Amino acid sequence: MTLKDKFCLDLNLNDLTEWCAKRDVPKYRASQIYGWLSSGCVSTDDMTNVPKNVRAMLEEDFIFGGFEMMEHLVSKLDGTEKFVYKLYDGNIIETVAMRYKTGISVCISSQAGCRMGCAFCASAKIDFGRNLSAGELLAQVSVTQKELGERVHSVVIMGIGEPFDNYENVMRFIKLANDPDGLNLGARHITLSTCGLVPKIEEFTKEGLQVNLAVSLHAPNDELRKKLMPVAKAYSIEQLMMACKEYTKATNRRITFEYSLLAGVNDTPQCASELVKLLKGGLYHVNLIAMNKVPGTIFQSASPAKVKQFRDILESGGINATIRREMGSDIMAACGQLRRGTIEGTR
Ligand code: SF4
Repeated sequence: MTLKDKFCLDLNLNDLTEWCAKRDVPKYRASQIYGWLSSGCVSTDDMTNVPKNVRAMLEEDFIFGGFEMMEHLVSKLDGTEKFVYKLYDGNIIETVAMRYKTGISVCISSQAGCRMGCAFCASAKIDFGRNLSAGELLAQVSVTQKELGERVHSVVIMGIGEPFDNYENVMRFIKLANDPDGLNLGARHITLSTCGLVPKIEEFTKEGLQVNLAVSLHAPNDELRKKLMPVAKAYSIEQLMMACKEYTKATNRRITFEYSLLAGVNDTPQCASELVKLLKGGLYHVNLIAMNKVPGTIFQSASPAKVKQFRDILESGGINATIRREMGSDIMAACGQLRRGTIEGTR
């Protein structure tokens, strides 16, 4: 990789210290520059305490700018905010900020597009662009934090893309986000959501990180899951559950299973009973999602009565379950919806 391939926010303090030595720039400038980058500055123009010649050298060597905000929508229903960013190479990603009692949670994208092809997802309908770099994941947090003018409390890697399909960069992002000299976001404040790439769950188990793991399940058996999620053709539920069991055993950390309730598809009492059998006895939690309507798909949300009935069956079977509030439904808050609308010019 040549230096110019590196996005500015991919740099950590070590990289900048080395760069200063190489460019004959005093060492203390590294901390100054890192401070600006960590606070969400992706333009050297903002670095007012850094001399112009040093800023020019930075621009010669690294990619600056290109994190242009194309859209910013605020939900009138719950204050959820959506940001569409254009990257330096024209790829478009989206980031969502949700307000909870505990603070602001930012949902970030890990890829420009997604290769996983889930039937109910807007991101699957757009051509895959590329993996995002660790710095581009970080920028979604720091730039959004700067826009909001408030500190972000937690991050969920649950936007566009499959994080484990971009494994190295996502792991590097977690380290960058954790850095006490940088964003200083604790690992327990980060949640990573996968559609179930079994070998990567196994690899992740060995990382020994305190990050929260969520697995998109959406069906209690292979037959149904294969219809909704192509990844189920590669890895059976049995393989997935074995990897999850190993993860909880090795880390003693709970896994959250995401389950979007689709009317007449996976919201039946029989599905709920199957799910009880599948998850019984594990260190697991189920998040039931009454999903937003996704344009271009055949799916409808389950009715509130069906959602409640499903939750009740899980709970009476001894499975912890919560119903996730639908956020920002008036601003197309489900992953990829706004980006898709922007790309296709349908909005
Ligand atoms: S639900 Fe997630 S993994 Fe599936 S296509 Fe959408 S972004 Fe990709």
